[in-house]
Amino acid sequence: MTTTTARRSRAGSLAWMSRGVCLDRGDLPWIAEPEQTTAWERLTMGALCQNCPVRTDCAGCASREKVTAGFWAGRHRDAEVPNLFAGPGWAVDPQPGLGGLGGLGGAA
Ligand code: SF4
Repeated sequence: MTTTTARRSRAGSLAWMSRGVCLDRGDLPWIAEPEQTTAWERLTMGALCQNCPVRTDCAGCASREKVTAGFWAGRHRDAEVPNLFAGPGWAVDPQPGLGGLGGLGGAA
């Protein structure tokens, strides 16, 4: 076996990245620390991931590579950050124009 084959195989296994929806949304904080993001940004990134054609590949890669930072496949990889779609915890930041209430899923 040659190392060239191994390199080609590795590159091929990451080809899905070029089709990620996040590539066109560099304005969002995909690699920021969770406390440096707003609920709205997390919700927006999560919604984009939900409709991303390579979400399964992305989730598999993050899990396989034991990624512990950044926003991948619909959630921040920091284990202490709640899953956006698992409960109301993602939307507790006060929203403009709502009198200090949380956003979608927040307390009314
Ligand atoms: S699932 Fe989300 S983080 Fe992963 S490639 Fe798609 S848009 Fe990017």
